[in-house]
Amino acid sequence: MIRKVRSHVSQNESLLFELSAPGKVAYQLPELDVPPVDAAAALGAANVRDEVAGFPEVSEVEAIRHFTRLSTHNYAIDYGMYPLGSCTMKYNPRINEAVARTEGLAWAHPYQPEALSQGAMDVLAKVEDALVEITGMDAVTLQPAAGAHGELTGLLLIRAALEAQGNPRQTVLIPDSAHGTNPATVTTAGYVVRNIASNDRGMVDLAALERDVDENVAALMVTNPNTLGVFEGNITRICEILHARGAMVYMDGANMNALTGITRPGDFGVDVMHLNLHKTFSTPHGGGGPGAGPVAVKKRLEPFLPLPRLRRAAEAWTWDYDRPQSIGRVRAFYGNFGVLVRALAYIMAHGGEGLRRATLDAILNANYIRKKLEPYYDLPHKAPVMHECVFSDDRQSARGVRTGDIAKRLIDYGFHPYTVSFPLIVHGALMIEPTETESKQEIDLFVDALISIAKEVEEDPELVKAAPHNTRVSRIDEVTAARKPILRWRP
Ligand SMILES: *Cc1c(COP(=O)(O)O)cnc(C)c1O
Repeated sequence: MIRKVRSHVSQNESLLFELSAPGKVAYQLPELDVPPVDAAAALGAANVRDEVAGFPEVSEVEAIRHFTRLSTHNYAIDYGMYPLGSCTMKYNPRINEAVARTEGLAWAHPYQPEALSQGAMDVLAKVEDALVEITGMDAVTLQPAAGAHGELTGLLLIRAALEAQGNPRQTVLIPDSAHGTNPATVTTAGYVVRNIASNDRGMVDLAALERDVDENVAALMVTNPNTLGVFEGNITRICEILHARGAMVYMDGANMNALTGITRPGDFGVDVMHLNLHKTFSTPHGGGGPGAGPVAVKKRLEPFLPLPRLRRAAEAWTWDYDRPQSIGRVRAFYGNFGVLVRALAYIMAHGGEGLRRATLDAILNANYIRKKLEPYYDLPHKAPVMHECVFSDDRQSARGVRTGDIAKRLIDYGFHPYTVSFPLIVHGALMIEPTETESKQEIDLFVDALISIAKEVEEDPELVKAAPHNTRVSRIDEVTAARKPILRWRP
């Protein structure tokens, strides 16, 4: 008989503090071969202490194993498909990492003199040029550190431009299919949100829009394709309606993975937009790590872009601070440089044709999943989608199983869950975005898992409601974990 043994492979990892034993160290120093210095005399007694209270004492192998085991508690794109809708969790090609670690780029310091930074500045200029070409806009700022930060920058640009004309106006229109950061951005930028309803095809209702745009409207903020994965087929007309009444169009371009190489927002009338380099251009994201949300604008908004701007003068790059209409800095220094380097490596490795093919594959993958799962899950919007598809849990909730339960069960099958309960306009949403980096084999495994779960819901709903069963911990109290996190270890 095999007794249950304590296995360090599946058990929950202790805190490093709990592994601590007095006197253990992870280093060995050579004998001192110079005269000792009295630290208290050199630094002042107040700045010297004999020990750090509560500091964990472990050996080298314990420290290494602790962090290696912890690294296996996480799901990552390098393990398998990560179909988190809206987040574009695509694989980050290793060439990006190799380029970002080029010595001269990785060690460049933002306070380095311009004369010694020409290469880094050239990289920034190339990123700007590539994004201008991809978006069809006229100018780009690389400063914003994330998508939502780009949104705020963009709305401040609109405010500055309208103010320069004499009236910043008061409201910003947002379709109910927009990303959740959009209304938050509008409020932060000092505007009032006015929602506009989608029609039954999941698009902006033109008649409602015509009615709602008045002289108080500063802009329409439109996510395109929207959170249903639907492209706004009337986008050119939408832009015309706004422009005719002196308002502007902000496009949330975080979903550019569905458009890159096929169509350009600048060509269909958008005035200002952001890109999520950490989505579309593959640089790794999640866990609050660095991102980049460059903002692209049309000519009339360029004078208001954040300081400083790259300028070519006398055969060299220089930073231009002399821009009286600028909204000022939105971030220290020049943006998240390492992220920008990765994005440029990705863009250059693909080339124009490669970027276009990636987009087509992303759309194909999403529609393949939509068709394969349609017999098993309710699909509220039936039209072909772009880069993601959204089901509802209507059929499963009739048996008491909700989208969150299905997502937890998916973990048992070895996949990261899809996005749960978003967008809000689909009740009990399952939002799935495969991206182009998944092979047909991987997608088929994922589809099989969801079909199998749909059958489990019919046969044994309690099994699904209690999932996950194969993980180190099952259901945790997510509310308490978020509201009352324990951030300090106490023995
Ligand atoms: C991800 C996303 C954002 C926010 O981007 P962050 O980098 O997380 O701030 C905004 N809009 C859409 C449509 C998104 O998918």
